Amino acid sequence: MLPKCHYVRLKVRARRCANMRRMTEVGRASRRDGAAGLMGPIRACSVALFGPAVYRGLTGKPSVALTFDDGPSESTPRLLETLARHGAAATFFMTGANAARLPGVACAVRSAGHEIGNHSYSHSAFCFRSAGFIRAELEQAQRVIALTTGVEPRLFRPPFGTRWFGSRVARRLNLTEVLWTVMGRDWRLNAGQVVARVVARAAAGGIVCLHDGRELNPNPDIRATLEAVDRLIPLLRDRGFQFETVSQLCLMN
Ligand SMILES: [Zn+2]
Repeated sequence: MLPKCHYVRLKVRARRCANMRRMTEVGRASRRDGAAGLMGPIRACSVALFGPAVYRGLTGKPSVALTFDDGPSESTPRLLETLARHGAAATFFMTGANAARLPGVACAVRSAGHEIGNHSYSHSAFCFRSAGFIRAELEQAQRVIALTTGVEPRLFRPPFGTRWFGSRVARRLNLTEVLWTVMGRDWRLNAGQVVARVVARAAAGGIVCLHDGRELNPNPDIRATLEAVDRLIPLLRDRGFQFETVSQLCLMN
């Protein structure tokens, strides 16, 4: 979930990132083997300050990654049912506190075959925090998620998408930082608006950010998310997209 102040900051940063992405794509395109025809995952933004992060997967194949933050929640099982009904794989960035609160749901996400990432333990913003704080947040979440799901995440998404110097810690823990191409804003828009927003911005290699929780709130209302996902998957399939996990989309496996 993104408070308005964060969203404004993200818009500013997104403009800078878009410029950097364009520059990187041009550079990579000029270097790549023409026979391969695939662009590498985009890791350009803020490299000098915060280290690399993935904003997009391979753009040469018609796939997108649905990602869900802030879970698991009491409503996550309904989302799992929807994804199963459509046969779509997704990636869940869990908070450690929610996984500790609902270990059975966390385990069910993994059992359903989805990828699991780290979204910190307590969902506190990282800006102006020490490297020690960030390390503790990531390590605690890694421990709880591994305990409840049996999987140690390799991906990490910072709370509120706020990158910070301490995010370098993530690399020391062998975590790849993952942001997004499309933010669904499903915590404040209705399902129709979320669908329209995502469909309009969907592109090959796109990473779509939605939410199966609302920070650490118990029993969050995610009806807009659930309805949007149910409508989005067939719409995107009709446009030729397949659904992959972030690691599949970026060929990390
Ligand atoms: Zn979040």
